[in-house]
Amino acid sequence: ADAIRHEVGLPVPQQQPRSEDAEAKQLISYVLPVYNEAEGIKHFHSELTSTVAQRPEFSYEFLYVNDGSADGSLRILQDIAKNDSRVRVVDFARNFGHQIAITAGLDHATGDAVIVMDTDLQDPPKVSLQMIDAWLAGAEIVQARRRTRRDTPFKRFTAHAYYRLLRSCADVDIPVDTGDFRLLNRRAAEELRTFRERSRFIRGMVASMGFEQQELLFDRDERVAGETKYPMRKMLRLAADGVTGFSTAPLKLITRMGFVSLALAMVGIIYSITLRLFFPEITVSGWTMLMVVMLFLGGLQMLSLGVIGSYIGRIYHEVQQRPLYTVRDVIRHDEA
Ligand code: UDP
Ligand code: MG
Repeated sequence: ADAIRHEVGLPVPQQQPRSEDAEAKQLISYVLPVYNEAEGIKHFHSELTSTVAQRPEFSYEFLYVNDGSADGSLRILQDIAKNDSRVRVVDFARNFGHQIAITAGLDHATGDAVIVMDTDLQDPPKVSLQMIDAWLAGAEIVQARRRTRRDTPFKRFTAHAYYRLLRSCADVDIPVDTGDFRLLNRRAAEELRTFRERSRFIRGMVASMGFEQQELLFDRDERVAGETKYPMRKMLRLAADGVTGFSTAPLKLITRMGFVSLALAMVGIIYSITLRLFFPEITVSGWTMLMVVMLFLGGLQMLSLGVIGSYIGRIYHEVQQRPLYTVRDVIRHDEA
């Protein structure tokens, strides 16, 4: 992971010299994407800090990623950072999107556990304490799964349908009804950093990594302030990234259609030739040849597209450059 950080020009985290007292404390990092949350961010930070104050046995860092907000969120974040030494703000030069903002936060996180959560209080801070408990009990990744969500019926319905569709076609087991609210232990967070693909669907990447994943049911609250930063356009793009990033089902569909249309073409060709040979009086002149050529070429083209598609699928997997495997640990003789 440090090699990747070096490659993308990020500071390689040094093991910071911690004070005597903090030495034994484990560090929890919060990754907090912010896009135009000026109305609620201050309230969010005080909620989060008062929640984590219930767990003084850990030290914390709060990594806000300002994703090119245009509403003065940055000013407020600077204020928050001034008053709280545990806060760091990564300020994007423009809006890059939620998934990229999370990625930047993960790149900068140095904690023993990393928690990713939204900054609109839809992901309740107290649930993150339950995640920490699950992590202490041995979970490597803790996924928050929505039991209920208070969104519009339209959003609830489309999300419900989408997660099930994705599950049916994806190559990896992407859990339903989980967003990006999760905890990753240090190992899993490091591994996730090695995924550098551009169209990012983080819940898919997490699923494809493996590790001991635990689910935590929670009730998703309403937004405290402002409105959703996921308009239809962004939601559709994310949905498409999920399907194309973790499934080659659409490509396979072309191949299947190719076989079917070629088979149908054969039937059509035999039919038109039979008609021409045995009932020449009812065939219009030129029709047989036209039908044979058209059906044959149509089927052949469909099949060729499928063949090309299967190569493109391979090329696609290569350019994604995902890690070939994820290692949890290497056990040596003297440790065993
Ligand atoms: N967000 C972001 N960049 C974007 C859109 C959203 O960083 O381009 C952040 C936003 O500030 C919030 C989180 O991502 O903390 C989730 O966004 P939102 O609450 O609007 O999504 P929803 O909960 O409606 O799906
Ligand atoms: Mg939200």
